[in-house]
Amino acid sequence: MAMMNSENKNKGFGLYLHIPFCKQACHYCDFHFSTSLKKKKELVNALCTELLLRKNELDGIVETIYFGGGTPSLLSSEELQQIFETIYLNFKVSENPEITLEANPDDLSKQQILKFTNSQINRLSIGIQSFFEEDLKLMNRAHKASEALESIKEAKQYFENISIDLIYGIPGMGNERWKRNLEIALSLDVPHLSCYALTVEPKTALKKFIEKGIVPPVDEEAAKQHYEILLSETEKAGLENYEFSNFGKPGFHSRNNTAYWEGKPYLGIGPSAHSYDGKFRSWNIANNTKYIKSIEAGELPSEKELLSKQDKYNEYIMTGLRTKKGVSLGKVESEFGKKYSEYLLKQAENLLKNNLLILENETLKISKKGKFLSDGIAADLFFV
Ligand code: SF4
Repeated sequence: MAMMNSENKNKGFGLYLHIPFCKQACHYCDFHFSTSLKKKKELVNALCTELLLRKNELDGIVETIYFGGGTPSLLSSEELQQIFETIYLNFKVSENPEITLEANPDDLSKQQILKFTNSQINRLSIGIQSFFEEDLKLMNRAHKASEALESIKEAKQYFENISIDLIYGIPGMGNERWKRNLEIALSLDVPHLSCYALTVEPKTALKKFIEKGIVPPVDEEAAKQHYEILLSETEKAGLENYEFSNFGKPGFHSRNNTAYWEGKPYLGIGPSAHSYDGKFRSWNIANNTKYIKSIEAGELPSEKELLSKQDKYNEYIMTGLRTKKGVSLGKVESEFGKKYSEYLLKQAENLLKNNLLILENETLKISKKGKFLSDGIAADLFFV
């Protein structure tokens, strides 16, 4: 169990709830979930018990609540109500919290959206991924292209704060189809987009299909071109690229994710959920049955590690370079010491010369040229 950190007293924190159920397994996914919904009720009870067990772990006010997964839109009205009651009875929640629920298009009929509007949820993050049937089939998504479109139109009638997820770099997706995906999303005037390159994770069906030649391999160059299209189309539409994969209108940037990138504490509830208290990182077991059993016995099924100064520096470099804010040399010096700020400047020399990084107001930022390479650039600046 992560210890309460006195530095976090009176500060805000985020609450993350992992809902580990999905209707079917997407071929590319390596998150923790089960396609059997039999234990959903038991698991929701266990989530509520974990909330009680950990209610004093972080001090301060809950600023954001995020239902992730898995597929949180599979929760019933009663289950949502049970979770919210437990949160509001046991935690101090900010007066204007951001409360996000990840939802899949096939769960967003008018009737189902109403169940979310009757709860405290004020932001929907919809897993569209693509508006094209070919892409959805290749990825084994549970929804149809028509549902992708309809779900957004329906959700917009009840929610102002909507984000949609899209995936680019899908085998067979040319520049034109990707551009069309963006055109559709932008014509629907959603205020926030999260766009990710399709990645081939170990032990996924997608990896096996590529190895067997059933699906063509993912083309890095195509993904790079898609990312360039993404940058120019979103810029034209007035969405700010405030983090590598995230684009939002002013006032609609994700507060939950921003807090995470800024290294603020969060409490992760549910199987596989991670937590961070400013010093320790901890993570729950990624197994629904073992999680429920352990929580029912009053034991937290988690492991933890103390982050070293070097770990924290490397994380700051990684997230800082991915965000518009960049990496502040002053912050590196004040939080990690002169040894780190001098090391950082030395490592950055060549990257600055090659215009992959820029130095502006004592802050290192990724240049346009370096954007698609940001993870590799960050690795060059890591303290090892
Ligand atoms: S719906 Fe989301 S969590 Fe579930 S399998 Fe698909 S990508 Fe993974």
